[in-house]
Amino acid sequence: MKRMRDHHSPELFDPWEHLGPKRRRLLEISWSGVFREYLLDQLPVSELAAGFSDKHGRPSKDLSVVLGALILQQLHDLTDQQTTEAVALNIAWHYALDIRHEPDAYLCERTLRNYRTRIMESGLDTVLFRGLTDQLIEKVGIDTNRQRLDSTTVQSAIRGLTRLGILVEAASKFLRELKRKSPADFAEVDSEILRKYFERQGEGCFANTRPSESKRRLLEAAQDVYRLVEQFRESDAAGLESYQLLYRIFDEQCEVTNDPDSPVVIRPPRSSGCEGVISPADPDARYNKHKGTGYLVQIMETFDSPGEPVDDAESQPSPPDLITHVAVDPLTMHDQDALVPALDDVDSRHISPQELLADSHYGSTECLEKGENRGVKIISPAQTAKGAKQGKLTLEDFMLDDEGRVLNCPAGHAPIETSIAEARLQVLFDPVVCEACPHKDRCPTAAVGRSSQRYQYTHERVQHRARRLHETSDAFRDRYRWRAGVEATMSRFKHQMGMAHLRIRGMKRVTFSALLRALGLNIHRVAAWKRAMATR
Ligand code: SF4
Repeated sequence: MKRMRDHHSPELFDPWEHLGPKRRRLLEISWSGVFREYLLDQLPVSELAAGFSDKHGRPSKDLSVVLGALILQQLHDLTDQQTTEAVALNIAWHYALDIRHEPDAYLCERTLRNYRTRIMESGLDTVLFRGLTDQLIEKVGIDTNRQRLDSTTVQSAIRGLTRLGILVEAASKFLRELKRKSPADFAEVDSEILRKYFERQGEGCFANTRPSESKRRLLEAAQDVYRLVEQFRESDAAGLESYQLLYRIFDEQCEVTNDPDSPVVIRPPRSSGCEGVISPADPDARYNKHKGTGYLVQIMETFDSPGEPVDDAESQPSPPDLITHVAVDPLTMHDQDALVPALDDVDSRHISPQELLADSHYGSTECLEKGENRGVKIISPAQTAKGAKQGKLTLEDFMLDDEGRVLNCPAGHAPIETSIAEARLQVLFDPVVCEACPHKDRCPTAAVGRSSQRYQYTHERVQHRARRLHETSDAFRDRYRWRAGVEATMSRFKHQMGMAHLRIRGMKRVTFSALLRALGLNIHRVAAWKRAMATR
């Protein structure tokens, strides 16, 4: 039976009168006061209550207290045990959650776990983040016209595994689940395989495999996994989640041959692609050569760009920067593919920016057009010109006219011929001049027979050249410099809010933590702003 206390109606007598004015004021300008004043009566308890009967069953906990406790747990990065203690004993938590009745002050760890699973399964974490963030934006009066977007990598609680380790852990996980759920099938497993992958004791176990032996042991593990896969392919055990994972990992790492002497071979490294499982403990985590392992978190936030600093005691503190959008994606996703979902999210909540600052990963011509189509100006530098990092000359070093034709090369020579086609532009130089040129080794032109030195480039590269030249202007730098502030937000998100050291695994759990910790960071920022306002 659902139970929801009324936190809306004012009390006849102030239940917090006993605190005294100093302690009361401290609470009001802390995260506790922000939560109580702005968010407590906005919690989506009716969505959570949908699974409860009005009349039957034991009364549930006060749903506001449960939802609030789960948010505050993420805000403070606490374990379940620490959270139940805080709900029972911490006066700031009592004030934030309006706990005035003895039964509300007790939550057991199992209750927390059950409600958290219910929230994750129903997607209520997204509703919580969006609804409560919008509430903060409205209450504080945040201007959302200018925002900035960036991404960061977060790692779940997994350890790095070699290919051998992935196969061994997957087999071990399958055997553990098989024993739990299908003991009769488990009894059919070969005793040698059980010793190596279930008991993991004695000769031939994989725990201390030397690097010099790993190639031989990898093939041995692959053959054992193949035997397991084949043994249970037609049985009920094939429906187990761990069997599906074992099958998938075997398929990614190994290949079945027609050779009876060697029925299984190891696939070459990297042939499984970037979508391969990197840890059986967290099949959703991915590997990215540039970003490491884990998940990609996209964060968009508002920002305030004050003009000249005013030395005036009457001036108001700047409004806080609030995170407006959080998305957890596979690490293999490219940043530019995350732009449209981010804009869709803020658009649906009517907090869309007019100007969005983002780094060059979001700065493709396609991204800029998508932003423009929905009235958002994307301020983002173009990607570095091809060859610039290797010290080569680029299109920026040539002088062009308004149509993109080359007027002069970097050495100051005029071309012998230029032409424009629909797909690309072309310029030809005198090979005799180029042969004697000191820039010859760095120049992007290439010899075409003996008659000419040619350089071809697209219209898009002409546009990028114009963008890059504009990016060197003071006007662009002054506008774009505010993007760097999002790096401080990323640092706080990871280190202050604990996203750098997660104790969880899996896409749903990481998403839950990311959303509620971003909301927690917003609450901290509004509390800091309230404190600054109070000291004026
Ligand atoms: S190699 Fe030819 S085109 Fe390139 S800079 Fe020298 S003269 Fe100009």
